[in-house]
Amino acid sequence: MICVAGVGLAALASCRESQVLSVHFIDVGYGDAIVVHMPGEATILVDGGYGAHETDQGRRTVLPYLQELGVTQLTAVVATHSHPDHVGGVVDVVRALPVGQVIRPAWGRTNVYTLTLDEVAAVRGVPVERGGRGIEWRWGSMRLRALHPIPGGADVADESFDLNANSLALVVEFGAARVLLLADVTTPVLRELYTHGYLPRATLIKIPHSGQRDAYDEELVRALAPQHAVLMVGPNPYSAPAPEVVSGYEAMCMLWRTDRDGTVVAELTKDGQIRVGAKGKTH
Ligand SMILES: [Zn+2]
Repeated sequence: MICVAGVGLAALASCRESQVLSVHFIDVGYGDAIVVHMPGEATILVDGGYGAHETDQGRRTVLPYLQELGVTQLTAVVATHSHPDHVGGVVDVVRALPVGQVIRPAWGRTNVYTLTLDEVAAVRGVPVERGGRGIEWRWGSMRLRALHPIPGGADVADESFDLNANSLALVVEFGAARVLLLADVTTPVLRELYTHGYLPRATLIKIPHSGQRDAYDEELVRALAPQHAVLMVGPNPYSAPAPEVVSGYEAMCMLWRTDRDGTVVAELTKDGQIRVGAKGKTH
């Protein structure tokens, strides 16, 4: 095998090739916090739930979960976009643990979360990279590819800038297994990506935007043919998830939801096999 040494802590990763990759969809209430874990090779955190200014899921839930997994440093931390239910906890994790790099989307908005994350990363000496379509990272036997937004962007101050439509959509590839992490991307973006061949068929989909109506297209999901879908949701004022989104996924694949099942863990092998289980509600 070829060992690809990344930057920072990734270079410390051993060259032993993992046979199993696990993806942990942590129950942080409303919001996303996902750990992609290959013991001895790499651990990536994608979003961290609400942060210290809200329900403090980064410190209350994500950090203890990583500790339980035996993770004491992170190869990379991804903030898919700077809405607080995604980036809030990320800031607290970067403050607390050694992190190889921070990845955030090519296009963003200058808000308090973006500024705080950049500041904390700078203080901790963690490089911040902008992710966009065509950019990929390889850690051991795993590849993480950015599907959206288009690369080469910047942060804008415009309050009307649509963070969801510009959130960082990713695919985790491990042999024949693929996990789509679709952040909060909206229906028009999903359709555009699919029409242009940027959305691959997937073994598992992290349902975008907590199952809200503005991030769903039944035909498109059917074409992606997932075996499993994970809905990350908790109590919220947005009427999420939408009933037709829930029934649509239920009709097409096995649906897991963090508000009912607690933290959901998927184990993937390189031949494309997948095993999914839930840890039960803990809060
Ligand atoms: Zn969002």
